[in-house]
Amino acid sequence: MKEEKKHKMRPESLMMSYGYKPELSEGAVKCPIFQTSTFVFKTAEDGKAFFQVAYGHRTPEEGEELGLIYSRLNNPDLEILENRLTLWDEAEDCAVFESGMSAITTVLLEFLRPGDTILISSPLYGGSDHFIKKILTQFGINVIEFRAGKSEGEIYKTIEDSGLSKNLKLIYIETPANPTNDLVDIQICKSIATHFSQLTGNHIYLVVDNTYMGPVWQHPLKFGADLVIYSATKYIGGHSDVIAGACLGSKELISRIRVLRTFLGNMASPNTGWLLLRSLETLKARMDIQAANADKIADFLNNHPKIDKVYFPGNLTEKDGLPYHTKVKQCLTNGGMISFDVKGGEKEAFTFLNALKLIKLAVSLGSTESLAEHPATMTHVDVEPQLLKELSITGKMIRLSVGVEYFEDIIEDIRQALDKI
Ligand SMILES: *Cc1c(COP(=O)(O)O)cnc(C)c1O
Repeated sequence: MKEEKKHKMRPESLMMSYGYKPELSEGAVKCPIFQTSTFVFKTAEDGKAFFQVAYGHRTPEEGEELGLIYSRLNNPDLEILENRLTLWDEAEDCAVFESGMSAITTVLLEFLRPGDTILISSPLYGGSDHFIKKILTQFGINVIEFRAGKSEGEIYKTIEDSGLSKNLKLIYIETPANPTNDLVDIQICKSIATHFSQLTGNHIYLVVDNTYMGPVWQHPLKFGADLVIYSATKYIGGHSDVIAGACLGSKELISRIRVLRTFLGNMASPNTGWLLLRSLETLKARMDIQAANADKIADFLNNHPKIDKVYFPGNLTEKDGLPYHTKVKQCLTNGGMISFDVKGGEKEAFTFLNALKLIKLAVSLGSTESLAEHPATMTHVDVEPQLLKELSITGKMIRLSVGVEYFEDIIEDIRQALDKI
């Protein structure tokens, strides 16, 4: 009995059952899709009590669970999904959204006000970059940017040189960065947040978009992040059949985010929740295969005469200094994303992409099938040309999301497509 108590199960063992009570659903082994907009209250008193908690008019009593009200506020598929997602990041709470972008925009809108400054790493996902630079700025929010891979001293200098440090409220980073796989050290960003929090008296939140590593390969909360965000469309969903997002962190922060979600109305649907519950059962198994495949494919690319450069965390060595140490510290694998430059330019890259047979020519990532795309003209076309150049996102770059196919079949497809160049 004692032994049993001590044993802590891994998240992958709990993904089939955690948080679901079959007796509440006719004994169904799987959580049904609760395709309903509203829920019947047993009594008027219950309805009153639920609303008090949902709208923050009363703090719930010890052990009191929020009753089901209306699917814009809560729904069993979403609640079970949120509970299961907390296990990977060991987070107190989670809120799921109808897309990764809605998770990102809701967090930024909750924690930033006109006159505030946001510090971002670059490159960022194109949608995040657009929202921060082209939309948040219209609401009087200032943006400071630092390049992934910069040292702590260089980041301090960027902040101080901007003259905007007094109003710094939020640090938003993405690591590894898309599509270059550049790493940002989460712990360093936390110490920057702490430093400027003390200096300014602001509480500076650290938010990490962890989509690229997914909930299995990197746990930003452990390195001091306040919030971790996912496009659940990617590894969490993992089958290219659903758009969704998630945000995890403390109960206090997530309850603020959940209130804004209620009023923006950008929660996920019950059907999306159900699809993601299904996806989570195989998350670890899928990602194990993807990471193992990626290592083998990177090896092949590293040694191919038609490849100029491979951007892959597994290629970092001690000689690379900070990025290498960051990787060893915060990444549990090299990930499943590889970018590479073919010799030549856009023409050669397009010839390669058009020749692929098994690998699909499509944006998105983290799915069971391998996907390849051309960042400079597709996902990152909106990024300013000068920045693209600085980040070495050029015409010859291909981004590959490694799937769960047999690795030799993926390699063979890449080999025959490179032969066409
Ligand atoms: C895809 C992606 C997003 C946006 O997510 P959606 O689910 O498409 O809204 C955000 N960040 C990263 C790193 C992504 O890859």
